[in-house]
Amino acid sequence: MSNKKLPENLHLDTLAVRAAVDKSQYGENSEALYLTSSFVQPDAATAARRFANEEEGYIYSRFTNPTVTSMEQRLAAMEGTEACIGTSSGMAAILLMCMGLLKSGDHVICSQSVFGSTIKLIGSEFGKFGVESTFVSQTDVAEWRAAIKPNTRLLFAETPTNPLTEICDIRALADIAHAAGALLAVDNCFCSPALQQPVKLGADLIIHSGTKYLDGQGRVIAGAICGTRQLIDDKLVPIMRSAGMTLSAFNAWVVLKGLETLSIRMQAQSANALALATWLEAQPGVARVYYPGLESHPQYALAMRQQTINGQGCGGAVLSFDVNGSDVESARKNAFHVIDSTQVCSITANLGDTKTTITHPATTSHGRLSEAQRQAAGIGQGLIRVAAGLEHIDDLKADLRRGLDGLGRLK
Ligand SMILES: *Cc1c(COP(=O)(O)O)cnc(C)c1O
Repeated sequence: MSNKKLPENLHLDTLAVRAAVDKSQYGENSEALYLTSSFVQPDAATAARRFANEEEGYIYSRFTNPTVTSMEQRLAAMEGTEACIGTSSGMAAILLMCMGLLKSGDHVICSQSVFGSTIKLIGSEFGKFGVESTFVSQTDVAEWRAAIKPNTRLLFAETPTNPLTEICDIRALADIAHAAGALLAVDNCFCSPALQQPVKLGADLIIHSGTKYLDGQGRVIAGAICGTRQLIDDKLVPIMRSAGMTLSAFNAWVVLKGLETLSIRMQAQSANALALATWLEAQPGVARVYYPGLESHPQYALAMRQQTINGQGCGGAVLSFDVNGSDVESARKNAFHVIDSTQVCSITANLGDTKTTITHPATTSHGRLSEAQRQAAGIGQGLIRVAAGLEHIDDLKADLRRGLDGLGRLK
């Protein structure tokens, strides 16, 4: 089976269904799942050359696997990077990146609003190995600049953040990093390459939790790092080979097929999120809505520039809103009432699923923080996060209305 070579300069939508390794001799139209731990070598001399890295070829699936390579090629093509390396989870991607780029005595600057496990991993776990870290405001560029030290090697950002959807200026952070001889890594989980391609704004490395929008149907745990061929081959591949935070072929295949519908899912789910956010802003029981696609969002202009689909600004598919109470207790009671009154939404902390999910950040994802830390982060007991799925918008509104309508009657 001879494989057709893809032309240059294809659009993201085309790459999302076409970029992959060559078809096998059977000419399968849907990419094959190579569920094998090792690969048979034609002879001992070839095996020796492949182990010595003198010849390309598959050896063992902890190192590489053709299904994983297909996922990597497709995601790299969509992010506009030269290369990609799949990992067993989003956190494994951050672990691999930190192990590959940092050593004792190095310094990392990270947004204080990134994913909770990322703060723990960079701040506490890598702190044990002598890596210094400074956590700064998501939105205040001057704080990032002021935190630079002679030993700063890495700036790490995530945009928009969970659950308040704060946006950081990727280009401004890339400039600060590069002026200091450091790299900028961006966790692109919430937007995915369908909405935001951070390398085009100057970022050096892209982190993904494939668990979220890339799979998109809530099936597998997966992760990836995209970047230059040199960074991935020289800094990350050797660690992957010895440490083994490998993406399984099965999970890679699920993500590979998920990528085919990423763009249309992101459009439809973002449209649902915008409609919900707009509607929620007009509801009497709702004190505030956090969604980058609303003009009331403090970084609306930046978001509309940085996150686009088909040339249009796009807020993404995650929003949060506050139902107030007279005190902390009643705010929590009101939030629980809205969540528990839903009959369609799934009560789960995951996001990026075709099924709409609803969660109470203060007692779940941010439950380990003290009340004072939560106050500082702006995550009150009345806050509810919704990650919009593909259900009909009228059913989603009705589902939230069930609880919101009753709020006035709650004591
Ligand atoms: C979920 C998530 C991660 C971690 O990904 P896992 O696949 O669960 O390990 C990292 N960053 C962000 C922004 C996430 O939402």
